[in-house]
Amino acid sequence: MSFGKDGLMAMADRQIMEEHDISLRGDVAAVACVSNVPSMTRGACPSLSAPMITGDGLLVRLRPTTPGLTIGQFRALAQAAERHGNGLIEITARGNLQLRGMTAENMAGLAEDIAHADIIPETGVTIEVPPLSGLDPLEIADARELAALLREQIAALDPQPELAPKLAIIIDAGGRLNLDAITADIRLRAARIAENSTMWVLAIGGTAQTAKALASLSTGQSIPAIIELLKALALLGPRARGRDLDVASLRKQYQSPDVSALSMADQYVSPTGIHPLGSDRLALGLRPSFGQIHARDLLRFLAVAEDAGASEIRAAPEHAILVLGLDAKAAKAVQLAAANYGFRTRPDDPSNHLEVCAGAGACASAFYPTKAAAADLLELVPELLDGSLTIHLSGCRKGCAHPGNSALTIVGAPMGYGVVVNGSASSEPVAYIGKEELKSALAEMNRLVRNNKVAGESTKECLTRLGTDAIVTALRQG
Ligand code: SF4
Repeated sequence: MSFGKDGLMAMADRQIMEEHDISLRGDVAAVACVSNVPSMTRGACPSLSAPMITGDGLLVRLRPTTPGLTIGQFRALAQAAERHGNGLIEITARGNLQLRGMTAENMAGLAEDIAHADIIPETGVTIEVPPLSGLDPLEIADARELAALLREQIAALDPQPELAPKLAIIIDAGGRLNLDAITADIRLRAARIAENSTMWVLAIGGTAQTAKALASLSTGQSIPAIIELLKALALLGPRARGRDLDVASLRKQYQSPDVSALSMADQYVSPTGIHPLGSDRLALGLRPSFGQIHARDLLRFLAVAEDAGASEIRAAPEHAILVLGLDAKAAKAVQLAAANYGFRTRPDDPSNHLEVCAGAGACASAFYPTKAAAADLLELVPELLDGSLTIHLSGCRKGCAHPGNSALTIVGAPMGYGVVVNGSASSEPVAYIGKEELKSALAEMNRLVRNNKVAGESTKECLTRLGTDAIVTALRQG
């Protein structure tokens, strides 16, 4: 059974808006009785000082000022998550840490424990660098140094520019785990133009592939150029994003030739797996199942990792962590053990190609339990999950787990699911399926691929060749 599209969409939109309004009102109400927990404005990022109310209580997102945390700090964080929240810890798609299930009353205790562990959450404009920056021999330049300089110069601005809360700057000097696939308002990407000569490509809005390149700049020119863009954004208003800037006039201003030739993306490498860093050093990349782990499992894992010689853990994009300090033998042993604590350990694990938000039970806006659906999918649709495409399971149209496009997105709606092909959770679905029909619809789609795939073809290529109409027909047959 499929539903009438317009009626369902209208209902979905209304309910999502109501859920968010209720959330915000609830947040303010909850906060009103505890003066040290300020309310969160719409569009802001949840932080220790302004947590977000969700289906399982308050949520805090944090990015430490240091590139990683020591094992002791990670342990303190897990203990704090269990003591003050429901113990669920998430690594987001951008590599931030999230703690869930706090109440307004225990926020002060959480903040105290985090401060006591010497974990200082970053504040101000988000500036992201690759997770192995400073360790990766393939990195063209030191992105961290430039990021630190930029932070200093932004902090020195008087008056401070009023910028969109979710504005993100990426400084990426390439390397094994670059940030090419992550969207940013402002992107500075290193390009080697000759031996010992590096330029930085300045671009706005999008991923490395989709961002609009403005100029190629020397290291010395890069920071002033970003500062100017921030001032231009502030002039456009406190909600302005990189995409709102006038590309044509900025390009004229910089008069940089051949920028497009420099702005190519590097090859993709999954953060899950073992990454050689030269001189016998390595990083072990692990991914908590669907981006979430309980503190008690994490604590058990930390004990094993520490025993094996791990010294530091960095959160990384794609919901991953990178364990540092292990030698090759220890890394293999820890990788093997990690599977017992809820980690996915292989880059070719099919679940790496599922993007899953918190879902029902953890988020008040969710229309379905995304994690349970993801577990079902892993059993049901092996052909679909061949690694050539990503399936995004989103509890609602907000698309927290994966803001960009996916080959297939299953979006929760009041009476079932919207199915988006080559779009994001907020794109127009091509079909709707009823509440009880997700498994059968996707199984039918899996069958479509199995019966039509030609030798050497990936699932993505097969679905692209068959086209959206064939996908919709299969979904409806299911
Ligand atoms: S996408 Fe998922 S986590 Fe985000 S608001 Fe919707 S249901 Fe909640």
